[in-house]
Amino acid sequence: MISIQGKGASVGIAVGPLQFLHREEQTVERHTGGDPYREWLRFTAARDQAVEELAALEQQARNEAGSDAARFFEIHQIMARDPDYAQAISELIHSQRLNAEAAVADVTEQFAAMFAAMDDAYLRERSADVKDVSDRILAALTGVERSRPDFEGPVVLAADDLAPSETMQLDKRKILAFVTTGGSGASHTAILARTMGIPAIVAIGDTLRPEYEGREVIVDGGSGTLVLDPDEAMRERMLKRQQRQQKEVQALRQLKALPSVTADGQKVQICCNIGTPADVYPVLENGGEGIGLFRSEVLFLRRSQIPREDEQFDAYKRVLSAMGGKEVVIRTLDVGADKCPPSMVLPAETNPALGTRGLRLCLNRPDLFRTQLRALYRASAYGTLSIMFPMVTSVWEVKEARKLCRQVRDELRSQGVPFAENVALGVMIETPSAALVSDRLAKVADFFCLGTNDLTQYTLACDRQNSDLGRFYNSHHPAVLRLVKLVAENARANGIRCSICGELAAETDLTETFLALGIDQFSVAPTAVLPLREKVRSIDVSQVRQRVVDDLMNDAIPL
Ligand code: PEP
Ligand code: MG
Repeated sequence: MISIQGKGASVGIAVGPLQFLHREEQTVERHTGGDPYREWLRFTAARDQAVEELAALEQQARNEAGSDAARFFEIHQIMARDPDYAQAISELIHSQRLNAEAAVADVTEQFAAMFAAMDDAYLRERSADVKDVSDRILAALTGVERSRPDFEGPVVLAADDLAPSETMQLDKRKILAFVTTGGSGASHTAILARTMGIPAIVAIGDTLRPEYEGREVIVDGGSGTLVLDPDEAMRERMLKRQQRQQKEVQALRQLKALPSVTADGQKVQICCNIGTPADVYPVLENGGEGIGLFRSEVLFLRRSQIPREDEQFDAYKRVLSAMGGKEVVIRTLDVGADKCPPSMVLPAETNPALGTRGLRLCLNRPDLFRTQLRALYRASAYGTLSIMFPMVTSVWEVKEARKLCRQVRDELRSQGVPFAENVALGVMIETPSAALVSDRLAKVADFFCLGTNDLTQYTLACDRQNSDLGRFYNSHHPAVLRLVKLVAENARANGIRCSICGELAAETDLTETFLALGIDQFSVAPTAVLPLREKVRSIDVSQVRQRVVDDLMNDAIPL
């Protein structure tokens, strides 16, 4: 029995024989001196054929695996028609008189290498998309059909990585699990496996050797462990776990199609927290109803240079477009304290957590702030955007931020740049000061969002980063919860919504409390959406409201 560790990419347990995916190498003919006009026509005809095939695959994916899977093939059609890609191929055909196949192969290599070198994990994975699309165009050019993976099945299928079209063409009844030597949580195999509910492990490396083919393996897609030649005891244990998990997963999957509504009919919204555009896919896979917090600083933390307006615009636009009209709340740059981007020299401070962070830094650096606001407003034309300011303590800060937003809108209008006129401007309530003056803040904010991670830190004067303070950092402390109650009341009195996006939002033992206090929007990690929806649906708010409030305001909670 050998145990090999990879990364768990899609939860579930599978037991069966290991089968490697064998591909036939495509050979590309190369010659120069042909007729460029003819080669260009051959390329465009092959590209059009590839687009037609991709449209058919999109339809198949929609029928078999839903719209999340279909989106891949929509994107592949856009890639195949990309004008930069066509332009680069045209140049090689015309300037070097290269044949179409060789021009496609060379440009593919360039484009794939460019994606592979990107900082963003999601964009790096797109290198495989470029290859997949190009292989299809090459097959159309040469007239040699791409081989369809086939085997007797059912098997645990192993490969370096799988292209989306390969995954779609597999007979799913024959696949017990996927294992890839490369890839990441953002790779196709991972995303499609999750969409189709097939267990998967990625990035298992070369320890998974081809000579293991045909031997029995156990795949645990939750922990990322593969066991080769399991003994009887291990087999039985895992089969029992498999049955348990299947029941749990099935129950949660059913919840994906159900509304987030309490037992007494109160509508609740469960959105997600994300840090990069790539995180949108797990949001959609888990039934997230919007993005409640996009931590825009992650874009800054991952780069050695401050991201330019266009780069930021691109990232925001990608998230807004992918969410297809559902609300996306993007938090403006929240750096300082524990978050220090490599591209920024932040002054050393004695008390960084109480220093130039969040909105304070943006108001002190209007150049940075204005660039981000321009990118945000430009992206607002592509979906339903709301903007949110972090680390607020006073009304004047919000007024100053709103003024800068107004100036940016005026500037864009005068430049004829399109943007949405109705972008809501919200305030994060994560300092005791903001909570205590939330009646006044509600007059200058379109919505509130409780950041309970920082609200706990500042209310209890307890560093959230200090692991020695674990038992002192108590987000359930009545001091924190009483502030939540006050903020929810002030939001309601002023007719604005109040959501909660700190880690506390996902703690289902507090869902009853939050609902009773009047919080009706939650923003949590994608994997927490369905367990939270299950909890919400079990609560009758009208039955528990008074008891929760009494407990909180009296001495029922131990201190
Ligand atoms: C919070 O403080 O609760 C919050 C959501 O923001 P962050 O954890 O990014 O500081
Ligand atoms: Mg915070």
